[in-house]
Amino acid sequence: MAEAHLDIDLRAVAANWRALDALSATGVETAGVIKADGYGLGIDGVAPALLAAGVRSFFVALATEGAALRRVVGPGARIGVLSGHMAGDTDLIAAHDLVPMLNSSEQAERHLAALPGRAFGVQLDSGMNRLGMEPAEWDGVRARLMAAGPWLIMSHLACADEPAHPQNAAQLEAFRGMTDGLGVRRSLAATGGILLGPDYHFDLTRPGIGLYGGRPFDDARPVVTLRFPVIQCRDVAPGESVGYGAAWIAKRPSRIATVAAGYADGLLRSLSGKATLYAEGTPCPLVGRVSMDLLTIDITDLGHDPAALELLGARQGVDAVADVAGTIGYEILTSLGARYSRRYLRDAA
Ligand SMILES: *Cc1c(COP(=O)(O)O)cnc(C)c1O
Repeated sequence: MAEAHLDIDLRAVAANWRALDALSATGVETAGVIKADGYGLGIDGVAPALLAAGVRSFFVALATEGAALRRVVGPGARIGVLSGHMAGDTDLIAAHDLVPMLNSSEQAERHLAALPGRAFGVQLDSGMNRLGMEPAEWDGVRARLMAAGPWLIMSHLACADEPAHPQNAAQLEAFRGMTDGLGVRRSLAATGGILLGPDYHFDLTRPGIGLYGGRPFDDARPVVTLRFPVIQCRDVAPGESVGYGAAWIAKRPSRIATVAAGYADGLLRSLSGKATLYAEGTPCPLVGRVSMDLLTIDITDLGHDPAALELLGARQGVDAVADVAGTIGYEILTSLGARYSRRYLRDAA
């Protein structure tokens, strides 16, 4: 088999959820955010693992994602839809018992008219200016929405991964100003917000990236291992080039390994000439350009031809690779391609 092996450790996902859950008081519910197919890792694996760990509320971005998730988790679990109640979503919301987080007065009108009596939440903008009602809009619909009994009122922090950023406290104050005294369950914190401490926890937290082993949850257990079988090794003489654009030229007699994965598998082309892969613990530099389906790696210093090379794992996590590519761990995870042979690691039943 030439294709790469992607191992997803569901025991680590569950352990990361429990660790994040333990950071807030016992009365605070810890939800699980599994938009974008569980940050690219697959809801078929991730959602049952989180359910078994104790998650009772999930969040997805889209109603279509919510419908797919409902088939995996069955009835019972709550599924919040962060994009709210869009035109055309009504049937999906009703059929799959989804809870739209209403983002605007327009969505509020739509929901109350189309699905009166059906569960909903409210998303407020406390300063990120991306999604949710601003104070004036909230003032206009608050009485009607509160009378209808929202499940949750939430907002999202723009700078939670930078604890010293003054916008955290400013958003906290704005959120309090819009929700204090309403007697409704509230939520402000994603992974970064959990780490900011109890002032930010309210009644429910919404971790995503921390479940999957990413920053800013530095104590996370790594979840993903990505390993490539070596297809071919060759000797390259000094002065010979490797790959497209002849972008790498051997300075010494070199041994080059080729593996089957490339930018079509989410290995960003910006990793060209910069990434490091590991063979049995020995670092081996990626040389030349990342192509659509292939990578070339300098294994000269290893001294033998390895069976496989590893990009992601305990030695090098998603954030380390993201730093090299000039992006964030979220993008590395959600880019992971469909061609990998995926395996979920579970506890023995
Ligand atoms: C993506 C998202 C989360 C989860 O954020 P992480 O940083 O991955 O923990 C929580 N809430 C909202 C509104 C989101 O969009």
